[in-house]
Amino acid sequence: MQDFQQIINTIHTDLKNEIDRGLVANYIPELSHIDAKNFGIHLKLISGESFSVGESHVPFSIQSISKVFALSKAFQLQGDALWKRMDVEPSGDPFNQLSLLELENGIPRNPFINSGAIVIADILVSQLENPKEDLIQFVRDLANDQTIDYNLEVAASEKATGFNNFAAANLLKSFRNLENDVDTVLDFYFHQCAIEMNCEQLTNAFYLFANHGTCLQNKQWLSASQIKRINAIMLTCGFYDEAGEFAFEVGLPGKSGVGGGIVALLPNNLVISTWSPGLNPRGNSKIGMQALEAFTTKTKLSIF
Ligand code: GLN
Repeated sequence: MQDFQQIINTIHTDLKNEIDRGLVANYIPELSHIDAKNFGIHLKLISGESFSVGESHVPFSIQSISKVFALSKAFQLQGDALWKRMDVEPSGDPFNQLSLLELENGIPRNPFINSGAIVIADILVSQLENPKEDLIQFVRDLANDQTIDYNLEVAASEKATGFNNFAAANLLKSFRNLENDVDTVLDFYFHQCAIEMNCEQLTNAFYLFANHGTCLQNKQWLSASQIKRINAIMLTCGFYDEAGEFAFEVGLPGKSGVGGGIVALLPNNLVISTWSPGLNPRGNSKIGMQALEAFTTKTKLSIF
């Protein structure tokens, strides 16, 4: 077996003093205080063995990574009925782009751009008895960690400044692709994005995507076919207008968030999470992408 601890240590050492770490997101004011020097990696093999380096136990705002949990819950509840309300094509556009939504009559390109994630939030608000409690419980169960929670300051901070998401939700409403009130859906969406997790918790929660729908505790949450579809959407849409670049550099399905986290996985093999808060111009963690590129190149473990 490869010496995974040695490999992630080397990657961490090589990148931890990199001067250009990208820019910490500041459009959500609460996120702007985070130190760009944080850098953690956590790797879990399908066998259960895990490896950590750096700030892998420091919680951060998972932001758009939460869209994978929300999609999974909605897919579990609604099955293929989901795809009547959104498509599964990469947008080639930034995560908050609105023009395509108008052009395509309120049908978001995919569940990972903000408009698609807002439609998923609408579905969960309609379907779950206690939407916020039920979603966080789902994430806790997947990660097998009951301490995971929302950061309420981050949720409030985004609510106060989330004008673009209010525009997206109103546009969806005008196209009749939103059942609930704009305010109710966005309150849920801003909380979902404000879930805090560390690299280890994220890696554990994503284990089922590398394991055909069965989580670490051996419970089957989604079918193997549903997991195949979610992984395909991660590969083609998980990094917005940089999905091609991520596939080219890293070669794994994954998901990023503007909090600087990235989770990626190789089915049947492993899940790996990185956290480095500085973002590149496309809103993906700069050092995280470099670390994952180095990981798949050094280990030769990618879907390609
Ligand atoms: N909450 C953020 C937003 O809606 C999520 C964006 C992201 O992580 N790409 O803008």
